[in-house]
Amino acid sequence: MEHRFSTIIEPFRIKTVEPLGMTTRDQRLVAIEKANWNVFKLHAEDVLIDLLTDSGTGAMSAAQWAAMMIGDETYACSRSFYKLEKVVRELTGIHHVIPTHQGRAAEHILFSSTCKPGDVVPSNSHFDTTRANVEFLGAEAVDLLYDGAGDPRTDMPFKGDLDVRKLGQLLADRGADVPMVLVTITNNRGGGQPVSLGNLKAVRALCDQFGVPMFLDAARFAENAWLIKMREPGQGHRSAAEISRECFGLCDGFTMSAKKDGLVNIGGLLGVNDSALAERCRTRLILTEGFPTYGGLAGRDLEALAQGLQEVLDEDYLAYRHASVRYVFDRLDQMGVPMMRPPGGHAVYIDAAAFAPQIPAWEYPGVALVNAMYIEGGVRGVEVGTLMFGRPDPDGHHDFTANLELVRLTFPRRTYTQSHMDYLIEVVGAVWKDREKLPGYRITDQRDVLRGFTAALQPIV
Ligand SMILES: *Cc1c(COP(=O)(O)O)cnc(C)c1O
Repeated sequence: MEHRFSTIIEPFRIKTVEPLGMTTRDQRLVAIEKANWNVFKLHAEDVLIDLLTDSGTGAMSAAQWAAMMIGDETYACSRSFYKLEKVVRELTGIHHVIPTHQGRAAEHILFSSTCKPGDVVPSNSHFDTTRANVEFLGAEAVDLLYDGAGDPRTDMPFKGDLDVRKLGQLLADRGADVPMVLVTITNNRGGGQPVSLGNLKAVRALCDQFGVPMFLDAARFAENAWLIKMREPGQGHRSAAEISRECFGLCDGFTMSAKKDGLVNIGGLLGVNDSALAERCRTRLILTEGFPTYGGLAGRDLEALAQGLQEVLDEDYLAYRHASVRYVFDRLDQMGVPMMRPPGGHAVYIDAAAFAPQIPAWEYPGVALVNAMYIEGGVRGVEVGTLMFGRPDPDGHHDFTANLELVRLTFPRRTYTQSHMDYLIEVVGAVWKDREKLPGYRITDQRDVLRGFTAALQPIV
């Protein structure tokens, strides 16, 4: 893109439209009460701007829809698989390409082919499903971020970096029990904080020293490459595609939820270089996902993914993508809204504990903020705090609380325009202005696992 003008525009025009459900404040009050004050239970038609997740919620391009029409639905060895395989090999340099129906299936197949009880898998930060899959196999998932990276206020460019001193220590102590080191790019916790190329190289060197394979959880590989280009000294002149290839070139394999930077609504990938490991993975794949050339996906899904993986590294797209996150962050920052700094690749995190300090953690300040944004403006965000990660204390009347009370506003890819973002900023501004009136919440019903998805709540009045 030419740089004579400073406005960063959406680098696409609209060919198909999907009407948004307009509702009144009164209608939303009825809807949220019916949903037991838990936005996960709101029906889609009652939500105006949905920032619950960036997973599988993006818009496909005309080229992707066209590719779907030539999807080859042959059961074994379909043309669409070989097209995808070629794209993934060119993108990553990884030889064995195994499609799965989504990221967690790739994780389960990889870990069940490599981990045994008593093992330990170090990472910068395990994503929820990654941790659950490691722990399900009786292994331990250890997160090794740098000190201070978890603090919302510290402004470090690469908060996703894996602490190499801690990793060196762990490998020296327990190297024989480590089946792999897993680096998540970008780190989903904290809104997609990037991992630097320098850090990936340092992790690779340690893995070589201790003879341990290095894997990437590469759901947001393109956003990570873009943030390396923007933030890492000496990388600004390189293309995102070149940086991305170098990152993949450092690892022995990867898992990927294609629902993020794959620009598709469903899909996942597992890539490995080790042929013996690939054979074990394919054997497992047949049990749960299907024949190794389709892995739980239709031929047309493979086509859409092959096209999406190429589109996502377009630099006008990546510049626009990051600009929209940055735009919302900067405008909210000017209003004084407390947020996780700096903004990452796919979301803005509001610090709800600082937003509504009158509400203690065990009365869910994040829920208070999420529900107020919905009632005032029909915007759906998500609480990532004590409702999601805390649990009841059987001996006390307060919950064990999470260490941060955050609200995530996640940006679906190529879905909303700048006027939607301006509206969002206005809605958050209105809630911010009346923040002292926000009520706390109590839980009236909850389950043992993942209570945030299903809990029933009530405002404390
Ligand atoms: C979404 C995600 C996963 C899981 O992928 P699914 O496609 O949702 O199964 C794993 N790791 C990261 C970093 C993710 O963002």
